[in-house]
Amino acid sequence: MSNGRAGIASRAYRLQYLKSKQWHARRARWFDQNPDQHRCCVCKREESQAKRRLELHHIDYRGVTQLLNGGWMANERDEDLLPMHPLCHRLVHELMDNDGALRYMRSRKGATLQAIAKVRARLRSLIGAR
Ligand SMILES: [Zn+2]
Ligand SMILES: [Zn+2]
Repeated sequence: MSNGRAGIASRAYRLQYLKSKQWHARRARWFDQNPDQHRCCVCKREESQAKRRLELHHIDYRGVTQLLNGGWMANERDEDLLPMHPLCHRLVHELMDNDGALRYMRSRKGATLQAIAKVRARLRSLIGAR
């Protein structure tokens, strides 16, 4: 591509990005800059050590660019990242990958929000979470 971008459309690129030092720095910055959001957005439990206990789910990868030298630029908007427990995160991804209605949704944000609602409903019926 002429502007030096190589998208991050494929899962392989995303997995590679999530191991990069640029993502780790972006992730740390998100937790530092959003102290009022140290709460899992699936089960709603607040975490005092959020940076260690919560993961960030991308509802949009638009801010992520791979450079020609193989490095990354991590310019996600704060609102494109949602904090979740590792387990809650995994349940969201399982639904996004396997749920008949969700896996073909074109908007990752839309699929994420529906998956969160479904996981939350399931947790509510299991353990009485609000
Ligand atoms: Zn959670
Ligand atoms: Zn995720």
